Amino acid sequence: MKAKNIKSKDKHILNLADIVGGASSILYQKEDLLAYDCDGFTIHRHLPKAVVFPKDTQEVADVVKYCAENDLPFLARGAGTGLSGGAIPLNGEIIISMVRMKKLISVDLENRRAVVEPGFVNLKLTNSISDKGYYYAPDPSSQYCCTIGGNVAENAGGAHCLKYGVTTNHILGLEVVMPNGEIIEIGKDGIPDAPGYDLLGLITGSEGTLGIVTKITVRILKNPEGKQTVLAYFDNVEDGSQAVSDIISAGIVPAALEMMDKTAIEGVEAAAFPVGHPKDIEAVLLIEVDGIAAGIDEQIEQILEVCRMRNVREVRAARNEEERARWWANRKTGFGAMGAISPDYLVQDGVIPRSKLPEVLRRINQISEESGLRIANIFHAGDGNLHPLVLFDARIPGESERALEAGSLCLKVCADVGGTITGEHGVGIEKREEMRFVFTEDEIAAQTEIREVFNPRNLLNAGKLFPSPSRCVEIKKEMKAQAIS
Ligand SMILES: Cc1cc2nc3c(=O)[nH]c(=O)nc-3n(C[C@H](O)[C@H](O)[C@H](O)COP(=O)(O)OP(=O)(O)OC[C@H]3O[C@@H](n4cnc5c(N)ncnc54)[C@H](O)[C@@H]3O)c2cc1C
Repeated sequence: MKAKNIKSKDKHILNLADIVGGASSILYQKEDLLAYDCDGFTIHRHLPKAVVFPKDTQEVADVVKYCAENDLPFLARGAGTGLSGGAIPLNGEIIISMVRMKKLISVDLENRRAVVEPGFVNLKLTNSISDKGYYYAPDPSSQYCCTIGGNVAENAGGAHCLKYGVTTNHILGLEVVMPNGEIIEIGKDGIPDAPGYDLLGLITGSEGTLGIVTKITVRILKNPEGKQTVLAYFDNVEDGSQAVSDIISAGIVPAALEMMDKTAIEGVEAAAFPVGHPKDIEAVLLIEVDGIAAGIDEQIEQILEVCRMRNVREVRAARNEEERARWWANRKTGFGAMGAISPDYLVQDGVIPRSKLPEVLRRINQISEESGLRIANIFHAGDGNLHPLVLFDARIPGESERALEAGSLCLKVCADVGGTITGEHGVGIEKREEMRFVFTEDEIAAQTEIREVFNPRNLLNAGKLFPSPSRCVEIKKEMKAQAIS
């Protein structure tokens, strides 16, 4: 019995402690659990029953088997940076934390792949291979702390995903603990387009509702030969967003094409990494091109020409790597920077066709005026992935609800112009109801049937991703079950 020193009489706490190796691998007291009552979506808070810290796949499988046999709800947690509430224990779950499973298992430069444990932090992978001339492309702004397991669950994106694709384009194989405790491997040898259904694609982005990822084989890339980064300042948002559309229509694919509006600029300039953006500017574009060194200058010249046609006020090219890194720090810490100008903020995550940028930004502005809440926009403009940041003060009664309402209206605008309600942060609990903006009841029901195949008792991360079924869908299901029996 390893569970000595446990100050609980709860048999499940004692048994789980036994599975993961004792008192130092489990939290169960209220003061410890408070740190796990939410993730980056801080509006909802719920305490878990316990948090366990397995050290390997077998311990994860044993915990899952125990939970399944004892009807205990459970979920996986990486770094807890998710912005849609995916790691929030809505049902008093046992949280299975991945932070002790953080090894870089192997690097195979010849075949350009690496194998990591799920708790391995995203940026550490690039840092571990950069001296050999390689990197891992998906670069969420949270990459200095989020885990690759969490990235797989959310199909995370990032600034450079415009050219290189999101997480799913870089996953070659997964080891997964199924909700009954069985351990399976998919895409073992990284064979492209292997026969059978694309289970890698299905698990990636399933928001921790189909299984727990315990090992990941990823693709790694050779560093580009050349790189150049520019900042372009515009006196109105319309010109800035038209420039984005024009750059892509001209056939140029920058590695990154990011935009911030005036409120966002106020935030980033007030926070830890100011770069001296002009205070009166309405929009800034951060544009990076990379590839074969010989073509870089030509692409930059084409981009500058497009910006000039759209009345750019000023363009600056990074003079050295230090300046470039500073610009990226200014952009990548943009969400947190909102804390410098607002006590609270809600990050939204809609996608729109790029050509609709000016119209959508105008409508978001209207939502801001009507709600009486400021909305900053920091986003991956090149792929139409918007992040309206609704600024509010949770201490003022009713303001959190107004922020949620304003965020939801922003997503409705995205859906109405032919876009969708999430580009990279997932649905979680935050956007469950908004799924109805883009799917019919039948389409939602069909997706929940997929979940039931993998997670039939819904003990794993229940209450996420889908809205509660309408009565009409429930009746259809009952009729189907009766017809089968
Ligand atoms: C400042 C900031 C900037 C951000 N910028 C970006 C960005 O640019 N792009 C982007 O895509 N996201 C961004 N995010 C969101 C977040 O960082 C990503 O969603 C990230 O992938 C979450 O990783 P995590 O380790 O924190 O996962 P967690 O938050 O711990 O978990 C997220 C979800 O994944 C599930 N999960 C975690 N680990 C596993 C596992 N091993 N197996 C199965 N399911 C698992 C959880 O149950 C939960 O549903 C940002 C967040 C912050 C706070």
